[in-house]
Amino acid sequence: MKRLEFIKYMAGVTGMIGLGSFKQFTDDLPIQEQSMPVLFIGHGSPMNAIENNAFSLAWQQLGKTIPKPKAVLCVSAHWLTQGTYVTAMPLPKTIHDFGGFPKALFDVQYPAPGQVEMATLVKNTIHSTPVGLDMDWGLDHGTWSILKHIYPLADVPVLQLSIDFKQPTSYHYQLAKELAALRKKGVLIIGSGNMVHNLANIAWDKFSVDNYAYDWAIEMNTLFKQNILRKNHQALVNYNGLSKYASLAIPTPDHYIPLLYTLGLQTDKDQIAFFNDQYVAGSLSMTSVYIGEQAFTGTLPVIVKPTDSISKDTLI
Ligand code: ZN
Repeated sequence: MKRLEFIKYMAGVTGMIGLGSFKQFTDDLPIQEQSMPVLFIGHGSPMNAIENNAFSLAWQQLGKTIPKPKAVLCVSAHWLTQGTYVTAMPLPKTIHDFGGFPKALFDVQYPAPGQVEMATLVKNTIHSTPVGLDMDWGLDHGTWSILKHIYPLADVPVLQLSIDFKQPTSYHYQLAKELAALRKKGVLIIGSGNMVHNLANIAWDKFSVDNYAYDWAIEMNTLFKQNILRKNHQALVNYNGLSKYASLAIPTPDHYIPLLYTLGLQTDKDQIAFFNDQYVAGSLSMTSVYIGEQAFTGTLPVIVKPTDSISKDTLI
């Protein structure tokens, strides 16, 4: 480890960085006229990290289309904690938090740097709860499997914000609002999960069947999209009231909570677009959300239909 990196590392360990260097860092982050977009990305199988498929191609397009951020702050479904933490190490490790996949997936490294100053800014931006500077976690596959495609050069600093799993969904939706200022400072905030995510009901023999979905998965995913388009966030926060199938789509909320972080950041200036609006193996949806002040102009398979009459045939 180089001397400067070591000093930053120790600063992170103690939860303190020099006031002077932190001021310099924030001074160098002017407030931008236009906020960075916010993304919810359905990450699906870790294999998407090393496959060139429709999902990963869309992620590659995304990286070429949206403004390049100063840093990425990712809320991944795979980092659940008691309390709230932000990664603050200079060189976050690539965590292979899965089993039973080919060696090629375990060989993947995503060497994006961390940034203790940005971690401190995130910590200082949140007032409703203490935020710990974490030196242990790194980047889990909810983060690196998508960023490997969005920023393949790993040249953007990446931080993760943990999910306090003891807290209700309303807590996460409100906490997201405190992060709003970061959008103006060039930070790309990503929620990485899946709206419909029921691994116990996966149709393993249908993995290779394009867009295969159970009826209840289609109903729930459609309800999610309708309420996102209507900006009916309270219904999404209280998702159990949406349908009798809610507990099938969300047996545990870990993959759904990242969506609430992105919705909590939506303002009246933002427009919505969906991409990767597909199902996998019956009980997973990859549906992803772009929230931004500029209409999305890329080449993603974008679907925006602010209508009540969304049906299976029009959306998938
Ligand atoms: Zn996952």
